[in-house]
Amino acid sequence: MNRIADRIEAIRATLTEGVELNAVSKFHPVEALREAYDAGQRVFGESRVQELLAKIPQMPGDVRWHFIGHLQTNKVRQIVGRVALIESVDSERLLRLIDAESERAGVVSRVLMQVHVAREETKFGFLPEELVSWMAEGGYRTLRATHICGLMGMASNTDDESRVAADFAAIRDTMEEIRRVTAGELTGFDTLSMGMSHDYRLAMRYGSTMVRIGTDIFGYREY
Ligand SMILES: *Cc1c(COP(=O)(O)O)cnc(C)c1O
Repeated sequence: MNRIADRIEAIRATLTEGVELNAVSKFHPVEALREAYDAGQRVFGESRVQELLAKIPQMPGDVRWHFIGHLQTNKVRQIVGRVALIESVDSERLLRLIDAESERAGVVSRVLMQVHVAREETKFGFLPEELVSWMAEGGYRTLRATHICGLMGMASNTDDESRVAADFAAIRDTMEEIRRVTAGELTGFDTLSMGMSHDYRLAMRYGSTMVRIGTDIFGYREY
């Protein structure tokens, strides 16, 4: 299967009902994104601010851009108000800055908190217990222009399926624990973004509501 449209259709057929597809288009040219758009895809994921800003004006206005990479604090101002969701909030400092810039810009930013469970993959993200206690203390209550919509996480990059499953379970459990300690006070806290090309089927079995798929749609990236 070579055409991007065919690949998207094939992936859609495997998605559990209600699971949203984020087409991760980082490092791919706008022509590839247009092909996906013409196949009905509206959510695209980018991980670099400059690349995202270059692509936005070249795509139709109803694209919903998700930022999925490590966001440097000095670039927050450039993307606030321009993306539908920041999936990768990996520190309280970044969260507070997004909030301040959103208030300043007169917008409400939707974000996911990034949970770090994988053994090696990335050093970014909150440890589950760290995030749960921050939530339990009500750290989110002072946010003025930011809506925490859920969590994003990555499993270990390994062929060991039991390890990957354990990671997804840990992310899901963190979500449930946060719901418990905030006792329903958090509204619209329902997005669980987990699963990439090689592991999204497993992620859906652990409650993923949003999968981030790049390679299976666009092919391999040339960095
Ligand atoms: C690149 C990336 C993906 C997509 O990975 P594929 O293996 O190409 O599907 C998903 N999530 C994040 C955070 C990424 O950086």
